[in-house]
Amino acid sequence: MPNKRSHGSTSPEEELKRLPADEVLSPLIADWARAGKRLALVCDIDLDRFGELNQRLGMAGGNAALVEAAGRIKAQLPRESLVARIGGDEFAAVFAGLGPPQCHEVLERILVALAEPWEWRGQTASLAGSLGARLLDSTGPAPEAALRDAQHAAFFAKRAADGKVHYFDAPKAHADAQVVRERQRIQEGLAQGEFFLCYQPKVDMRRGVVVGAEALIRWRHPERGLLQPIHFVPLLEDDVLAEQVGQWVIGTALRQLYDWRAVGLRMSVSVNVSPLHMMRHDFVERLEEQLVQYPKLGAGALELEILETTAISQFATVARFVDACRTLGVAVAIDDFGTGYSSLTYLRQLPVSSVKIDQSFIRGMLDSAADRAIVQGILLLLQALGRTAVAEGVETLQHGEALLAMGCTLAQGYGIAKPLPADQMKRWVAGFERAPPWGRGDAEEDSPSAPIEPTPQP
Ligand code: C2E
Ligand code: MG
Ligand code: MG
Repeated sequence: MPNKRSHGSTSPEEELKRLPADEVLSPLIADWARAGKRLALVCDIDLDRFGELNQRLGMAGGNAALVEAAGRIKAQLPRESLVARIGGDEFAAVFAGLGPPQCHEVLERILVALAEPWEWRGQTASLAGSLGARLLDSTGPAPEAALRDAQHAAFFAKRAADGKVHYFDAPKAHADAQVVRERQRIQEGLAQGEFFLCYQPKVDMRRGVVVGAEALIRWRHPERGLLQPIHFVPLLEDDVLAEQVGQWVIGTALRQLYDWRAVGLRMSVSVNVSPLHMMRHDFVERLEEQLVQYPKLGAGALELEILETTAISQFATVARFVDACRTLGVAVAIDDFGTGYSSLTYLRQLPVSSVKIDQSFIRGMLDSAADRAIVQGILLLLQALGRTAVAEGVETLQHGEALLAMGCTLAQGYGIAKPLPADQMKRWVAGFERAPPWGRGDAEEDSPSAPIEPTPQP
């Protein structure tokens, strides 16, 4: 390779020769442009799990696989085209003279051809690939840029693993680049200490005591000011970043628990764990490493909150995760319950300690009979399954009263306290426990003033 199909066959050794992409593409595309060909297409084909195949079949097998893949790709290409191996398990193909629908057919045929099982010395292997494509015409882009674009599309094809052809999409690529920049900024912010945790108290309304606090992340951004999670938590959908931020949150919460214990504040802390962080194969190991640094905290000090939607979609993994955490003395709660339609069977099989009823139902329960019925239904269900219920989004004393009347004693919400800076917790707890708002005649007058969110510090 490179091999213009019209130029006849090449030996297997030549097939495996790698070529810098620009050497392959540029002259050919320039030729086509001169000849007035109407459209060219560059595609990037990346074999899936080639590393595994190489390990299993050895180098000779790996080479044979590449030759076979090259042959299968070529067999699908129109007469005047070129295919070259441009990386370990990556091929580029270029062809011209076809309209977009015909190009698409060719590309689909390549994927089908690659997906056919392949046998080598009695062993069966898969040569399936992911394919990204970039159309180009006389207006551009330049061949090298076209290949980069095709590689970009192939990267997403590989991630999607849906066996489809992915085309380069300029606005999407721009947005992707923006996301990459923002993710880098989060990493920098983490390194520079720009993140901090606020803690929202979780109280037992019946006993008038504070039982725990939920750690909620904030970003003190030097240019954009104080940022709430909505502005950056969605960007954590990247497993490396989810882990970095998640580890930081757990580490900070544990240290905070330790510091609070030192000043006589005993409560548990709940931490929100993003789905990708939870799915990390070494999550439990890393958690254990962090816990051993605080041996005095004991079991039950830390709780992890996972979203109901994750619990359902990854049930088997989550069930193992919950078990492993429990062995470490870490409780797991389901967050935003009621939004994910989990089946009763799932809930019964997940050994979670508590379930947080989503705020949308709590907020609506005083005005909407339907919301009230949902809350009541969830409470009965949890009671039957022996799980603790926590109401989120308790915005007023009336909400608290209604919940108490329904048998729900644990609650969190702006009506009790907004998320607090760590150093205000001790004072707030003392104030709340001195004059708990429920279960006393003078509740209204003595209700704790809702503290405000911290302002960015200089
Ligand atoms: P969540 O875990 O369900 O946390 C509760 C959210 O509701 C918090 O918002 C809290 O400030 C807010 N809230 C509490 N009580 C009330 C109330 O009475 N009324 C209203 N309207 N809101 C109330 P926040 O801090 O903006 O966090 C939003 C979400 O971001 C969290 O929802 C959680 O899913 C995520 N999040 C926060 N911190 C972290 C973190 O450290 N890691 C991860 N992965 N996610 C986090
Ligand atoms: Mg939560
Ligand atoms: Mg929630």
